[in-house]
Amino acid sequence: AETWQDVPLAPPDSIFKLTAAYKADPYPQKVNLGVGAYRDDDNNPWVLPVIKKATQILLNDPTLDHEYLPITGLPEFTAAAARLILSPTSPALAEGRVVSVQTISGTGANHLGALFLSKFYNWDGPKQVYLSDPTWANHHAIFRNVGIEPLNYPYYDPKTIGLDFNGFIGTLESAAPRSVFLLHACAHNPTGVDPTGEEWEKIAEIMLSKKHYAFFDCAYQGFASGDLDKDSSAVRYFVEKGVPMLVCQSFAKNAGLYGERVGALHVVPPTKDAADRVKSQLSVIQRSEISNPPSHGARLVALILNDAGLFEEWKRDIKTMAGRIIDMRQELYSVLSDELKTPGSWEHIINQIGMFSFTGISAEQSRELTEKAHIYLTTNGRISMAGLNSHNLRYFAENLDKVVR
Ligand code: PLP
Repeated sequence: AETWQDVPLAPPDSIFKLTAAYKADPYPQKVNLGVGAYRDDDNNPWVLPVIKKATQILLNDPTLDHEYLPITGLPEFTAAAARLILSPTSPALAEGRVVSVQTISGTGANHLGALFLSKFYNWDGPKQVYLSDPTWANHHAIFRNVGIEPLNYPYYDPKTIGLDFNGFIGTLESAAPRSVFLLHACAHNPTGVDPTGEEWEKIAEIMLSKKHYAFFDCAYQGFASGDLDKDSSAVRYFVEKGVPMLVCQSFAKNAGLYGERVGALHVVPPTKDAADRVKSQLSVIQRSEISNPPSHGARLVALILNDAGLFEEWKRDIKTMAGRIIDMRQELYSVLSDELKTPGSWEHIINQIGMFSFTGISAEQSRELTEKAHIYLTTNGRISMAGLNSHNLRYFAENLDKVVR
Protein backbone atom coordinates (compact mmCIF):
# COMPACT_ATOMS: atom_id res chain seq x y z
CA ALA A 1 0.00 0.00 0.00
CA GLU A 2 0.98 3.60 -0.54
CA THR A 3 2.71 5.32 2.39
CA TRP A 4 0.29 7.16 4.73
CA GLN A 5 -2.71 5.79 2.86
CA ASP A 6 -4.13 4.35 6.07
CA VAL A 7 -3.82 7.53 8.11
CA PRO A 8 -7.35 8.52 9.13
CA LEU A 9 -8.31 12.03 8.10
CA ALA A 10 -8.81 14.13 11.26
CA PRO A 11 -11.46 16.84 11.46
CA PRO A 12 -10.18 20.44 11.65
CA ASP A 13 -10.00 22.08 15.11
CA SER A 14 -13.50 23.41 15.75
CA ILE A 15 -12.44 26.86 16.99
CA PHE A 16 -10.07 27.46 14.09
CA LYS A 17 -12.74 26.22 11.70
CA LEU A 18 -15.19 28.72 13.19
CA THR A 19 -12.70 31.56 12.69
CA ALA A 20 -12.16 30.54 9.06
CA ALA A 21 -15.92 30.55 8.42
CA TYR A 22 -16.21 34.00 10.03
CA LYS A 23 -13.36 35.36 7.92
CA ALA A 24 -14.92 34.05 4.72
CA ASP A 25 -18.31 35.64 5.49
CA PRO A 26 -18.76 38.95 3.59
CA TYR A 27 -21.72 40.09 5.76
CA PRO A 28 -20.83 43.53 7.20
CA GLN A 29 -22.43 43.03 10.61
CA LYS A 30 -20.90 39.59 11.24
CA VAL A 31 -19.71 38.91 14.80
CA ASN A 32 -17.04 36.45 15.96
CA LEU A 33 -17.77 35.20 19.48
CA GLY A 34 -15.59 32.10 19.14
CA VAL A 35 -12.27 33.87 19.44
CA GLY A 36 -10.17 33.10 22.53
CA ALA A 37 -8.08 36.24 22.32
CA TYR A 38 -8.70 39.77 23.58
CA ARG A 39 -10.05 42.32 21.13
CA ASP A 40 -10.39 46.07 21.71
CA ASP A 41 -13.61 48.02 21.24
CA ASP A 42 -12.97 48.11 17.46
CA ASN A 43 -12.51 44.33 17.33
CA ASN A 44 -8.74 44.63 16.80
CA PRO A 45 -5.97 42.69 18.57
CA TRP A 46 -4.39 44.85 21.28
CA VAL A 47 -0.65 45.12 21.78
CA LEU A 48 -0.29 46.16 25.41
CA PRO A 49 1.46 49.55 25.73
CA VAL A 50 3.79 48.06 28.36
CA ILE A 51 4.80 45.34 25.88
CA LYS A 52 5.61 47.99 23.26
CA LYS A 53 7.76 49.75 25.82
CA ALA A 54 9.54 46.56 26.92
CA THR A 55 10.15 45.61 23.26
CA GLN A 56 11.84 48.97 22.70
CA ILE A 57 14.06 48.45 25.76
CA LEU A 58 15.15 45.04 24.45
CA LEU A 59 15.86 46.50 20.99
CA ASN A 60 18.15 49.09 22.54
CA ASP A 61 20.03 46.61 24.72
CA PRO A 62 23.46 46.01 23.07
CA THR A 63 24.28 43.15 25.47
CA LEU A 64 21.53 40.84 24.19
CA ASP A 65 22.51 37.94 21.96
CA HIS A 66 20.79 34.86 20.57
CA GLU A 67 22.50 32.19 22.65
CA TYR A 68 20.55 29.26 24.08
CA LEU A 69 18.71 29.79 27.35
CA PRO A 70 19.31 27.26 30.16
CA ILE A 71 17.20 24.08 29.77
CA THR A 72 14.75 25.20 32.47
CA GLY A 73 14.50 28.70 31.02
CA LEU A 74 15.50 32.29 31.77
CA PRO A 75 16.10 32.40 35.55
CA GLU A 76 14.91 36.03 35.94
CA PHE A 77 11.70 35.03 34.21
CA THR A 78 10.94 31.78 36.05
CA ALA A 79 11.73 33.26 39.48
CA ALA A 80 9.56 36.34 38.91
CA ALA A 81 6.77 34.24 37.37
CA ALA A 82 6.75 32.02 40.48
CA ARG A 83 6.47 35.08 42.75
CA LEU A 84 3.65 36.42 40.58
CA ILE A 85 1.48 33.36 40.94
CA LEU A 86 2.48 32.12 44.41
CA SER A 87 3.01 35.61 45.91
CA PRO A 88 6.39 37.12 46.81
CA THR A 89 5.85 36.05 50.44
CA SER A 90 4.98 32.41 49.67
CA PRO A 91 6.37 30.10 52.39
CA ALA A 92 7.07 27.47 49.69
CA LEU A 93 9.35 29.94 47.86
CA ALA A 94 11.11 30.91 51.12
CA GLU A 95 11.72 27.23 51.82
CA GLY A 96 13.26 26.72 48.37
CA ARG A 97 10.82 23.96 47.42
CA VAL A 98 9.24 25.42 44.27
CA VAL A 99 10.46 24.02 40.96
CA SER A 100 9.87 26.43 38.07
CA VAL A 101 10.45 25.54 34.45
CA GLN A 102 9.84 27.82 31.45
CA THR A 103 7.45 26.24 28.96
CA ILE A 104 5.84 26.76 25.56
CA SER A 105 3.04 28.91 27.00
CA GLY A 106 0.21 27.32 29.00
CA THR A 107 -0.24 24.42 26.58
CA GLY A 108 3.41 23.46 27.01
CA ALA A 109 3.12 23.74 30.80
CA ASN A 110 0.12 21.39 30.74
CA HIS A 111 2.02 18.97 28.52
CA LEU A 112 5.21 19.02 30.61
CA GLY A 113 3.22 18.65 33.84
CA ALA A 114 1.20 15.77 32.39
CA LEU A 115 4.28 14.02 31.01
CA PHE A 116 6.09 14.40 34.34
CA LEU A 117 3.12 12.92 36.21
CA SER A 118 2.83 10.10 33.71
CA LYS A 119 6.47 9.14 34.32
CA PHE A 120 6.93 9.87 38.01
CA TYR A 121 3.64 10.15 39.92
CA ASN A 122 3.16 7.36 42.43
CA TRP A 123 0.27 5.77 40.56
CA ASP A 124 -1.53 3.23 42.73
CA GLY A 125 -3.78 2.08 39.90
CA PRO A 126 -4.34 3.07 36.26
CA LYS A 127 -3.02 6.46 35.11
CA GLN A 128 -6.08 8.71 35.18
CA VAL A 129 -6.86 12.39 35.60
CA TYR A 130 -10.17 13.94 36.61
CA LEU A 131 -11.16 16.83 34.33
CA SER A 132 -14.07 19.20 34.90
CA ASP A 133 -17.14 18.51 32.77
CA PRO A 134 -16.78 20.47 30.53
CA THR A 135 -13.21 21.71 30.17
CA TRP A 136 -10.84 23.22 27.61
CA ALA A 137 -10.98 20.51 24.92
CA ASN A 138 -7.20 20.36 24.66
CA HIS A 139 -6.93 18.96 28.21
CA HIS A 140 -8.33 15.64 26.98
CA ALA A 141 -5.81 15.44 24.13
CA ILE A 142 -2.84 16.56 26.22
CA PHE A 143 -3.37 13.86 28.87
CA ARG A 144 -4.21 11.13 26.36
CA ASN A 145 -1.01 11.91 24.48
CA VAL A 146 1.05 10.96 27.54
CA GLY A 147 -0.93 7.84 28.39
CA ILE A 148 -3.15 9.31 31.11
CA GLU A 149 -6.83 8.55 30.72
CA PRO A 150 -9.18 11.51 31.22
CA LEU A 151 -12.20 11.03 33.51
CA ASN A 152 -14.86 13.66 34.21
CA TYR A 153 -15.96 15.26 37.44
CA PRO A 154 -19.30 17.11 37.50
CA TYR A 155 -18.74 20.86 37.27
CA TYR A 156 -21.32 22.78 35.28
CA ASP A 157 -25.01 22.48 36.06
CA PRO A 158 -27.17 23.43 33.03
CA LYS A 159 -30.21 23.89 35.30
CA THR A 160 -28.64 26.74 37.28
CA ILE A 161 -26.12 27.78 34.60
CA GLY A 162 -23.71 27.65 37.54
CA LEU A 163 -21.47 25.32 39.52
CA ASP A 164 -22.60 21.78 40.37
CA PHE A 165 -20.83 22.02 43.69
CA ASN A 166 -22.40 18.94 45.25
CA GLY A 167 -21.56 16.82 42.20
CA PHE A 168 -17.98 18.09 42.26
CA ILE A 169 -17.58 17.43 46.00
CA GLY A 170 -19.18 14.00 45.60
CA THR A 171 -16.54 12.95 43.07
CA LEU A 172 -13.70 14.33 45.21
CA GLU A 173 -15.01 12.17 48.03
CA SER A 174 -15.68 9.00 46.03
CA ALA A 175 -12.45 9.05 43.95
CA ALA A 176 -9.65 6.71 45.01
CA PRO A 177 -7.16 8.35 47.39
CA ARG A 178 -4.29 10.21 45.66
CA SER A 179 -6.31 10.85 42.50
CA VAL A 180 -5.20 13.69 40.22
CA PHE A 181 -7.71 16.53 39.71
CA LEU A 182 -7.24 19.24 37.11
CA LEU A 183 -8.53 22.56 38.47
CA HIS A 184 -8.92 25.83 36.57
CA ALA A 185 -7.33 28.42 38.87
CA CYS A 186 -9.71 31.16 37.73
CA ALA A 187 -11.95 32.12 34.80
CA HIS A 188 -12.99 28.56 33.97
CA ASN A 189 -12.89 27.81 30.24
CA PRO A 190 -15.46 27.28 28.71
CA THR A 191 -18.11 28.08 31.33
CA GLY A 192 -16.89 31.25 33.10
CA VAL A 193 -18.14 29.62 36.31
CA ASP A 194 -15.68 29.61 39.25
CA PRO A 195 -16.04 28.24 42.80
CA THR A 196 -16.42 30.92 45.50
CA GLY A 197 -13.73 31.40 48.16
CA GLU A 198 -15.66 29.24 50.60
CA GLU A 199 -16.15 26.53 47.99
CA TRP A 200 -12.39 26.52 47.27
CA GLU A 201 -11.76 26.04 51.00
CA LYS A 202 -14.01 23.00 51.06
CA ILE A 203 -12.39 21.59 47.89
CA ALA A 204 -8.92 22.03 49.45
CA GLU A 205 -10.05 20.38 52.69
CA ILE A 206 -11.29 17.25 50.91
CA MET A 207 -8.30 17.09 48.58
CA LEU A 208 -5.97 17.29 51.56
CA SER A 209 -7.77 14.59 53.52
CA LYS A 210 -7.94 12.27 50.49
CA LYS A 211 -4.35 13.12 49.50
CA HIS A 212 -5.49 14.08 46.01
CA TYR A 213 -3.09 15.89 43.69
CA ALA A 214 -4.11 19.34 42.41
CA PHE A 215 -3.08 20.01 38.80
CA PHE A 216 -3.88 23.73 38.49
CA ASP A 217 -4.18 25.34 35.09
CA CYS A 218 -3.93 29.14 35.30
CA ALA A 219 -4.31 30.71 31.88
CA TYR A 220 -6.07 33.93 32.93
CA GLN A 221 -4.36 35.43 36.00
CA GLY A 222 -5.37 39.10 36.19
CA PHE A 223 -7.50 38.81 33.09
CA ALA A 224 -10.47 37.53 35.10
CA SER A 225 -11.01 40.12 37.83
CA GLY A 226 -8.43 42.69 36.77
CA ASP A 227 -6.45 41.86 39.92
CA LEU A 228 -3.45 39.52 39.71
CA ASP A 229 -3.57 38.61 43.41
CA LYS A 230 -7.27 37.93 43.49
CA ASP A 231 -7.08 35.62 40.47
CA SER A 232 -4.36 33.50 42.09
CA SER A 233 -6.02 33.24 45.49
CA ALA A 234 -7.12 29.61 45.05
CA VAL A 235 -3.59 28.53 44.06
CA ARG A 236 -2.12 30.41 47.03
CA TYR A 237 -4.65 28.93 49.42
CA PHE A 238 -3.79 25.38 48.31
CA VAL A 239 -0.05 26.06 48.84
CA GLU A 240 -0.76 27.52 52.28
CA LYS A 241 -2.79 24.44 53.27
CA GLY A 242 -0.16 22.05 51.92
CA VAL A 243 -2.29 20.36 49.23
CA PRO A 244 0.15 18.51 46.89
CA MET A 245 0.10 20.49 43.65
CA LEU A 246 1.56 22.00 40.55
CA VAL A 247 0.43 24.99 38.52
CA CYS A 248 0.58 25.73 34.79
CA GLN A 249 0.99 29.43 34.00
CA SER A 250 0.43 31.28 30.73
CA PHE A 251 1.24 34.86 29.74
CA ALA A 252 -0.73 34.60 26.48
CA LYS A 253 -3.85 36.39 27.67
CA ASN A 254 -2.71 38.64 30.51
CA ALA A 255 0.25 40.04 28.55
CA GLY A 256 -1.33 39.69 25.09
CA LEU A 257 1.65 37.50 24.09
CA TYR A 258 -0.34 34.77 22.34
CA GLY A 259 2.22 34.08 19.62
CA GLU A 260 5.32 34.44 21.79
CA ARG A 261 4.54 31.25 23.77
CA VAL A 262 5.59 32.42 27.25
CA GLY A 263 4.64 30.18 30.16
CA ALA A 264 5.90 28.23 33.13
CA LEU A 265 5.28 25.07 35.10
CA HIS A 266 5.65 25.38 38.87
CA VAL A 267 5.73 22.18 40.92
CA VAL A 268 5.43 22.58 44.71
CA PRO A 269 6.81 19.48 46.50
CA PRO A 270 6.78 19.27 50.33
CA THR A 271 10.57 19.47 50.83
CA LYS A 272 13.61 21.04 49.18
CA ASP A 273 15.10 17.58 48.70
CA ALA A 274 12.03 16.44 46.75
CA ALA A 275 12.12 19.70 44.78
CA ASP A 276 15.73 19.05 43.73
CA ARG A 277 14.81 15.56 42.52
CA VAL A 278 11.77 16.84 40.62
CA LYS A 279 13.81 19.61 39.00
CA SER A 280 16.48 17.15 37.85
CA GLN A 281 13.89 15.00 36.08
CA LEU A 282 11.98 17.92 34.57
CA SER A 283 15.29 19.07 33.07
CA VAL A 284 15.85 15.64 31.53
CA ILE A 285 12.34 15.61 30.02
CA GLN A 286 12.55 19.20 28.78
CA ARG A 287 15.91 18.46 27.12
CA SER A 288 14.42 15.72 24.97
CA GLU A 289 11.25 17.67 24.20
CA ILE A 290 12.43 21.18 23.27
CA SER A 291 16.08 21.37 24.46
CA ASN A 292 15.72 25.03 25.50
CA PRO A 293 12.70 27.32 25.65
CA PRO A 294 12.49 30.45 23.44
CA SER A 295 14.04 33.65 24.78
CA HIS A 296 12.24 36.71 23.41
CA GLY A 297 8.87 36.52 25.16
CA ALA A 298 10.48 35.44 28.43
CA ARG A 299 12.80 38.46 28.29
CA LEU A 300 9.83 40.79 27.77
CA VAL A 301 7.93 39.35 30.73
CA ALA A 302 11.05 39.25 32.93
CA LEU A 303 11.67 42.95 32.23
CA ILE A 304 8.12 43.83 33.23
CA LEU A 305 7.97 41.64 36.33
CA ASN A 306 11.34 42.82 37.65
CA ASP A 307 10.84 46.57 37.19
CA ALA A 308 8.46 48.30 39.59
CA GLY A 309 7.47 50.98 37.07
CA LEU A 310 6.78 48.58 34.20
CA PHE A 311 4.95 46.24 36.58
CA GLU A 312 2.56 49.07 37.54
CA GLU A 313 2.00 49.86 33.86
CA TRP A 314 1.23 46.23 33.14
CA LYS A 315 -1.33 46.14 35.93
CA ARG A 316 -3.03 49.17 34.36
CA ASP A 317 -3.10 47.43 30.96
CA ILE A 318 -4.60 44.32 32.57
CA LYS A 319 -7.28 46.48 34.18
CA THR A 320 -8.06 47.98 30.78
CA MET A 321 -8.71 44.52 29.30
CA ALA A 322 -10.55 43.01 32.27
CA GLY A 323 -12.51 46.23 32.72
CA ARG A 324 -13.75 46.27 29.14
CA ILE A 325 -14.87 42.66 29.44
CA ILE A 326 -16.66 43.31 32.72
CA ASP A 327 -18.39 46.33 31.11
CA MET A 328 -19.58 44.13 28.23
CA ARG A 329 -21.06 41.65 30.72
CA GLN A 330 -22.88 44.42 32.53
CA GLU A 331 -24.18 45.97 29.32
CA LEU A 332 -25.30 42.69 27.77
CA TYR A 333 -27.11 41.86 30.98
CA SER A 334 -28.94 45.18 31.12
CA VAL A 335 -29.93 45.17 27.45
CA LEU A 336 -31.35 41.62 27.76
CA SER A 337 -33.00 42.00 31.17
CA ASP A 338 -34.09 45.62 31.31
CA GLU A 339 -34.62 46.73 27.73
CA LEU A 340 -35.56 43.69 25.66
CA LYS A 341 -37.11 41.77 28.58
CA THR A 342 -35.68 38.62 27.05
CA PRO A 343 -37.38 35.56 28.57
CA GLY A 344 -35.38 33.81 31.31
CA SER A 345 -32.83 34.99 33.83
CA TRP A 346 -29.56 36.45 32.52
CA GLU A 347 -27.82 37.04 35.82
CA HIS A 348 -25.25 34.36 35.00
CA ILE A 349 -23.79 36.76 32.41
CA ILE A 350 -22.62 39.05 35.22
CA ASN A 351 -21.83 36.28 37.70
CA GLN A 352 -19.54 34.43 35.32
CA ILE A 353 -15.95 35.62 35.02
CA GLY A 354 -13.15 35.91 32.46
CA MET A 355 -13.02 35.66 28.71
CA PHE A 356 -15.98 33.31 28.27
CA SER A 357 -19.62 33.05 29.17
CA PHE A 358 -21.92 30.08 28.92
CA THR A 359 -25.16 31.64 27.73
CA GLY A 360 -27.25 28.55 28.40
CA ILE A 361 -28.69 28.49 24.86
CA SER A 362 -29.01 25.20 23.00
CA ALA A 363 -26.90 23.89 20.13
CA GLU A 364 -29.83 24.56 17.81
CA GLN A 365 -30.18 28.16 18.97
CA SER A 366 -26.41 28.63 18.60
CA ARG A 367 -26.58 27.38 15.01
CA GLU A 368 -29.55 29.63 14.33
CA LEU A 369 -27.53 32.66 15.45
CA THR A 370 -24.80 31.71 13.01
CA GLU A 371 -27.09 30.87 10.10
CA LYS A 372 -29.56 33.73 10.42
CA ALA A 373 -27.51 36.52 11.96
CA HIS A 374 -23.88 35.73 11.00
CA ILE A 375 -22.95 35.49 14.69
CA TYR A 376 -20.23 32.86 15.08
CA LEU A 377 -20.06 30.83 18.32
CA THR A 378 -19.44 27.24 19.38
CA THR A 379 -22.55 25.07 19.55
CA ASN A 380 -22.18 24.63 23.33
CA GLY A 381 -23.54 28.19 23.64
CA ARG A 382 -20.21 29.61 24.77
CA ILE A 383 -19.50 33.21 23.80
CA SER A 384 -16.21 35.07 24.03
CA MET A 385 -16.95 38.33 25.82
CA ALA A 386 -13.89 39.77 24.06
CA GLY A 387 -15.76 39.50 20.75
CA LEU A 388 -18.40 41.94 21.99
CA ASN A 389 -17.94 45.70 21.78
CA SER A 390 -19.95 48.91 21.83
CA HIS A 391 -20.63 48.60 18.07
CA ASN A 392 -22.01 45.03 17.99
CA LEU A 393 -23.44 44.38 21.45
CA ARG A 394 -26.97 45.51 20.64
CA TYR A 395 -27.01 43.54 17.38
CA PHE A 396 -25.98 40.42 19.30
CA ALA A 397 -28.47 41.01 22.13
CA GLU A 398 -31.37 41.57 19.73
CA ASN A 399 -30.60 38.38 17.82
CA LEU A 400 -30.11 36.37 21.00
CA ASP A 401 -33.48 37.69 22.12
CA LYS A 402 -35.05 36.51 18.87
CA VAL A 403 -33.67 32.95 19.04
CA VAL A 404 -34.74 32.34 22.65
CA ARG A 405 -38.27 33.69 22.20
N1 PLP B 1 -5.56 26.39 29.59
C1 PLP B 1 -6.74 26.94 29.33
C2 PLP B 1 -7.89 26.61 30.21
C3 PLP B 1 -6.91 27.79 28.23
O1 PLP B 1 -8.11 28.33 28.00
C4 PLP B 1 -5.79 28.07 27.41
C5 PLP B 1 -5.97 28.92 26.21
O2 PLP B 1 -6.99 29.03 25.62
C6 PLP B 1 -4.57 27.48 27.75
C7 PLP B 1 -4.48 26.66 28.83
C8 PLP B 1 -3.29 27.64 27.00
O3 PLP B 1 -3.06 28.70 26.21
P1 PLP B 1 -1.60 29.05 25.70
O4 PLP B 1 -0.91 27.77 25.34
O5 PLP B 1 -1.84 29.94 24.54
O6 PLP B 1 -0.91 29.72 26.85
